Amino acid sequence: AKDLVEFKNLETHFHTSAGIVKAVDDVSFTIREGETLCVVGESGCGKSVTAMSLMRLVEMPPGRHAGGEILFEGKDLLKLSKREMSRIRGNEIAMIFQEPMSSLNPVLTIGEQITEPLALHLLLDRKAAKKRAIELITLVGIPRAEEIFHSYPHELSGGMRQRIMIAIALSCDPKLLIADEPTTALDVTIQAQILDLMRDIKRKLNTSIMLITHDLGVVAEMADFVVVMYAGKVIEEAPVLEIFKDPQHPYTKGLLKAKPIINEKKERLYSIPGQVPNPVDLGDNCHFHDRCEFCMDICRTKLPPLRVHGDHNHKTACWLYEEEGKAQ
Ligand code: SF4
Ligand code: MG
Repeated sequence: AKDLVEFKNLETHFHTSAGIVKAVDDVSFTIREGETLCVVGESGCGKSVTAMSLMRLVEMPPGRHAGGEILFEGKDLLKLSKREMSRIRGNEIAMIFQEPMSSLNPVLTIGEQITEPLALHLLLDRKAAKKRAIELITLVGIPRAEEIFHSYPHELSGGMRQRIMIAIALSCDPKLLIADEPTTALDVTIQAQILDLMRDIKRKLNTSIMLITHDLGVVAEMADFVVVMYAGKVIEEAPVLEIFKDPQHPYTKGLLKAKPIINEKKERLYSIPGQVPNPVDLGDNCHFHDRCEFCMDICRTKLPPLRVHGDHNHKTACWLYEEEGKAQ
């Protein structure tokens, strides 16, 4: 498949009273056409900020684009004018968030909220916009679309609201759908339904999906390709089967152990000992070294490069796989 988005050495920084936080620190990875790429990591690892950078939503202080490129079909989004960018945001890249209630306007009907972007970006007249809205409501699996069209957000359940958000996101037929923890606020059954819906949409519309999650169960269900982030950096990336069968980075291995084991009487939870490092004083070292049971001298003083080890699609940033580390 063709490359749709290429992050190249992206740097996104926040200037805080405690110092500069490199929320996204030299991040590179690629999203291909028709692929679901999951960005996984604990909260604060930089996965949401990476998506916000792609949407150009961190340009206000204290956030700052500090380096690198984000190529979308070969064009650097970070160099576009505000106007060009808002056209791309409406037409080619759409985003859904964790809490649909906060993104829907409580005083407008569902119909008004779906038809607004259709009128604005696709210049449809009222009748055509309504017809398209009804199609979209049906597409996201909601029965009695006509009735829902005239409802207000508070009249719908959380799962229905998230379906509506997906309908709005799809209204302009985007090439890329960004979903930031889209099911975290929903209960398990509804979560499974929304994930089914997203898979279905990807199949029908060939939309690429950038799915941000801390939940490896979601990754296993959804991903084609996985990018693991830790403290602002990509520490491992590989096709989904590789990540689950042959994880390389000690952090990824820890995350996999942290995955709740389904079908056991009790959920077994494993948590990786130690804490995420303070984001303002990260050095040129492996940011995971304080928590790593394999930590060597070199890990404390030198940044491990993200490199291919084994399968050509599988990259890991860890000294265990480098000659310099093996020599220790
Ligand atoms: Fe552990 Fe060193 Fe690998 Fe970091 S580079 S994960 S500290 S072994
Ligand atoms: Mg987040």
